[in-house]
Amino acid sequence: MAATATEAVNFITTSTGRVRLVCQVCGKLSRSLASACLADLPDGWSMAPYADGYAHPDGSTGDLFRCPTCDKRRDFPISPREYMKPVDVVTVI
Ligand SMILES: [Zn+2]
Repeated sequence: MAATATEAVNFITTSTGRVRLVCQVCGKLSRSLASACLADLPDGWSMAPYADGYAHPDGSTGDLFRCPTCDKRRDFPISPREYMKPVDVVTVI
């Protein structure tokens, strides 16, 4: 079973100081890497660079990553990180 992120983050830092990329679409985690730089991207993963500190609408910051599976898809019926949004949002007027 593939590990997934449970909150909107673009990568997580492991206890040993390495990083695991988080797919922006499905939340899948990459294997641990020395850094989240382009040079360390695992095979098949893609990266969309953003300025340091840039905040995305979901609250995450920085570069976006996609796993090999999602990067190959061209039929996105879901918006990125749909899986992490609350399903029963109550709008307070
Ligand atoms: Zn994915």
